[in-house]
Amino acid sequence: MKNISLTANCLCGSIRFKTKGRHRDIHNCHCIQCMKTHGHHAAYTAVKLDNIKFYKKKTLKWFKSSKGAKRGFCNKCGASLFYRSTGSKDMHISAGMFNRPVKLKTEMNIFVKNKLEYYRLDNRLPKSKRYPKK
Ligand SMILES: [Zn+2]
Repeated sequence: MKNISLTANCLCGSIRFKTKGRHRDIHNCHCIQCMKTHGHHAAYTAVKLDNIKFYKKKTLKWFKSSKGAKRGFCNKCGASLFYRSTGSKDMHISAGMFNRPVKLKTEMNIFVKNKLEYYRLDNRLPKSKRYPKK
């Protein structure tokens, strides 16, 4: 966890926001849903919902990707920005949306059983078969 402030936007710039407060270091998620929505594994940080300030979000739409979660994307450029569990006060944010300097590091790989064969994991990082406990 790091106390920082970051700016972020999607590819076309129609969604712009700022984050503050505690940011979880980045988890690379290899679950099938992340693979299908990002085109590769996901890289998410997480912050409290209250710590996100949107400047622009007209094109932000939500897709219910499973019983317990939805994913936020830009309906203009197709960027996949957010993951949110139902009822959670946390927003997971795709790390690639942030502008430099991001000041976070990759902490672990999760849902590693679902990883496809074409790439390798960084073995210096811990691996988890599922969502890690806090
Ligand atoms: Zn966009």
